[in-house]
Amino acid sequence: MPVTDPVKYRIAASRLLNVMICRKCGAKNPPGATKCRRCKSKNLRPKKKGAKKI
Ligand SMILES: [Zn+2]
Repeated sequence: MPVTDPVKYRIAASRLLNVMICRKCGAKNPPGATKCRRCKSKNLRPKKKGAKKI
């Protein structure tokens, strides 16, 4: 379902895209995190790709 409301879109985009994903367990971590909150791994990757459809 495409989001048309720009306010909702911004909120959704920031929540969905501005996160760090753990390469080990796949958990979402807050932006700026240096280690996974679930498995304590430091193997995180940023999830910031173009905001197309949410
Ligand atoms: Zn993890």
